[in-house]
Amino acid sequence: MIKITPIAAFSDNYIWCLYDDQSKQALIVDPGDAAPVQAFLAEHKLTLAAILITHHHFDHTGGIERLLANSEHEIAVFGPGSIQNINQPLQEGDTIEVLNLNFEVLAIPGHTLDHIAYYCDTGPTEPLVFCGDTLFAGGCGRVFEGTGAMMAASLDKLAALPAATAVYCAHEYTLANLAFARAVEPNNNPLNQRIVEAEKKRQQGLPTVPSTIALELATNPFLRCNQDDVVAAASTQTSSTEDSVAVFCAIRSWKDNF
Ligand SMILES: [Zn+2]
Repeated sequence: MIKITPIAAFSDNYIWCLYDDQSKQALIVDPGDAAPVQAFLAEHKLTLAAILITHHHFDHTGGIERLLANSEHEIAVFGPGSIQNINQPLQEGDTIEVLNLNFEVLAIPGHTLDHIAYYCDTGPTEPLVFCGDTLFAGGCGRVFEGTGAMMAASLDKLAALPAATAVYCAHEYTLANLAFARAVEPNNNPLNQRIVEAEKKRQQGLPTVPSTIALELATNPFLRCNQDDVVAAASTQTSSTEDSVAVFCAIRSWKDNF
């Protein structure tokens, strides 16, 4: 039985742990901090088999070295080849097998130039994607290293995954993202319903993630740059809304100052 659990780190990071409850082998995604990961592995009597890294930011990589140092066996560390301690460098189109699951690597530059995602449709449940800081629940990452066009193309690539795909992002930013989404599309009913549900979860101390591609397509303005209401909202911020990339750039810079 495969289980996936978020391990909370820093103020709002989620380090995802995917593990096989029978073999007790675990896969960790983006361990920014080793201590909470080691505590979780010990609590559940898990052996760390592999680490997946989505991009180079310290809150996603800072724990790798200590996890490797404290292990008695070799651990496969997958990720962009430019990052220290990656021993299995990856790029677009590569496939890897971990815990008997196949993951396909998608290059999704924009937030950083090295950013990749891991898509799996060979598990026991719906497909899933680990997408780091590119697609968030109700929002998207800041464009630090790439261009707006690059980020928009990366989001398009994720949006094209099957609608049922579970979206495992790396931060609990959902309520702030949805507040912005409502400023863009105040009359989006699925969005307003999602806000009620997300607020309820946070009041109970529960994560609002994973979401699904279907839910993001219905409520996330950054995946809705072709929708009339989103184009109209973008036009209050910029004079050029001639295509969906221009709309994306307008609402991304609006969100940067929201
Ligand atoms: Zn980042």
